Amino acid sequence: MATQSAPNGECAASFRKGALCFLGGERISATKKRTLRGGLAEYKRKRDFARTPEPAPRRASSATRRSFVVQKHRATALHYDFRLEIGDAMPSWAVPKGPSLDPSQKRLAMQVEDHPLEYAGFEGVIPEGEYGGGTGTYETIDDVDPAVALRKGELRFTLDGRKLKGRWTLVRTGPRKWLLIKGRDTYARTTDITLTRPRSVRTKRLLADIARDEGGNVDKAATGDPAPRKVAASAKR
Ligand code: MN
Repeated sequence: MATQSAPNGECAASFRKGALCFLGGERISATKKRTLRGGLAEYKRKRDFARTPEPAPRRASSATRRSFVVQKHRATALHYDFRLEIGDAMPSWAVPKGPSLDPSQKRLAMQVEDHPLEYAGFEGVIPEGEYGGGTGTYETIDDVDPAVALRKGELRFTLDGRKLKGRWTLVRTGPRKWLLIKGRDTYARTTDITLTRPRSVRTKRLLADIARDEGGNVDKAATGDPAPRKVAASAKR
C-alpha cells in the first residue's frame, strides 16, 4: 500500500483501509500543516467513527492534573504515540523508537494531529494496527503554561507514570520534528524500557494478546513485541 504518501484528501479513505497516513511526514500539505497546531478537526476528518473503535471527541474536561499517555502502535511501522493533555486536546507525537530513559538517547518525535482527551484510555485494535497503552500525569517544570511552551517549541515537564518518571524535555528542531529527551535525574537508566517492560500498564497485555482478544492480526502484532524465542532460548541454558 502506497498510502503514506497519499494526497491529503485521501487520508480518511486510506485510514479506513488501515493506513495511518499521517506517519512519515512526507508530502504534507500547507493546509494540513496549519491544522496540526491546534484543534481536533484533522483527527475527526480522518476517521469514520461508525467504523473505527477509536473514540470520537466529546466535551472537554478540565482536569486538575494533566494526563499523558504513551500508546505502542503496531501500524505500517511500529512506533510509540506520546500524547500530552494541553487545554482540551492532546498534542501528539509519533516516536519511532519509543521513549528512552537514557539522557544521551535523543528520540525523534514527529508531531501528528492533536487527539481527543478520550484517546488516553483507548487500547485495542484499529484497522491494521494494535494499540497498547499506559497513562499517567505530568506537570510542567516551574508551572509554565504548556500551551505557550508548545508554541515556543520547548516543553519541559516531569512525568509521573508507572514506567516513565522524572524530568523530560520535548524540543522542536523542524516544522514537525521534535526530540524527546530524558533529563538527568534519579530516574535515568541505560536499559531499554521498550524491551524490558513491553506490556500495557492498563491491562498487562502484549500487542499479540491485544490482537488475539480483539480480533486483530496476531502474527503481525507479535512482530511489535520483544522476540519471545530469544528470551525462552536464553532461559533454557
Ligand atoms: Mn500512531
